[in-house]
Amino acid sequence: MATPSSGFAGPADLHLHSNHSDGTESPAEVMRQAHAHGIRTAALTDHDRSTGWGEAAETAAGLGMTFIPGMELSAKHEWRSVHVLGYLFDPDDEALRAETDRIRGDRIGRAERIVRSIGRDYDLHWDDVVAQTTMDATVGRPHIADALVARGIVRDRTEAFDGILHPREGYYEPHYAPDPLTAVRLITEAGGVAIIAHPVTTGRDRMMPVPFIERLIAAGLGGFEIDHRENTAAGKRVLRELAAKHDLIVTGSSDYHGSGKPNRPGENTTSDEMVARLIARATGTAPRFP
Ligand code: AMP
Ligand code: FE
Ligand code: FE
Ligand code: ZN
Repeated sequence: MATPSSGFAGPADLHLHSNHSDGTESPAEVMRQAHAHGIRTAALTDHDRSTGWGEAAETAAGLGMTFIPGMELSAKHEWRSVHVLGYLFDPDDEALRAETDRIRGDRIGRAERIVRSIGRDYDLHWDDVVAQTTMDATVGRPHIADALVARGIVRDRTEAFDGILHPREGYYEPHYAPDPLTAVRLITEAGGVAIIAHPVTTGRDRMMPVPFIERLIAAGLGGFEIDHRENTAAGKRVLRELAAKHDLIVTGSSDYHGSGKPNRPGENTTSDEMVARLIARATGTAPRFP
């Protein structure tokens, strides 16, 4: 449905990854895939990086789609990995850039440590991982998974994450990431809107305590990604109540990673009303309208 006042049209998918982080396709191909799946407003949200925006925006515009620039910023609350989606922030903001440089730099050393550790038990070397990364990608366990696949040690990323890359196997290493409060403040101060990605996934991360989430809201948090395949039904109910209580933005997205995950563009979408609120709240960068 078109929303003429703000110039964009749904359906909107606000969480898509390219090969600038751990997706398997170029930003242009990600936009083409989103369009082929019926999406008309799309965000590119690579981990800790915004270098794919230009290519994605060009392709999206050519397809008649609205492009929302975004990023998925790595954060950490105690032992929990927390992902904070940032939308429409200024990509040249110095504080945010310094933080993403730090995270991306530390991710490399951390990946090397994981590979060294796996290499004691399996025939895997750092060169194998380098061969799986393109475009100075934000390196993560998915690239190590791809190297394990190339070596014939596992069949696909899913098998790698269920086995060798699972923390219980003993090869896991953490990487530097800011506290979620810092992450929310950095995105907000760069003129962006911060949305907690998949806040209630099963097993991997339990939800941050509600009083802590309320501190994030006080620090400028814009909302939650509620419709995501990994959020639990019970968790979604808690988040919807919290969002209603604080009048927050709620989004739904696929978290598409190309062939790296089963997630397909458009499997969850965000309403036009919520996209309009997101755009209205941001001051860092404008969306690219077709
Ligand atoms: P890292 O940030 O390096 O610890 O790796 C986490 C990333 O791995 C997430 O951003 C996900 O995209 C990806 N991931 C997590 N679980 C899976 C899975 N089962 N299959 C494919 N990718 C996964
Ligand atoms: Fe990812
Ligand atoms: Fe994530
Ligand atoms: Zn993601």
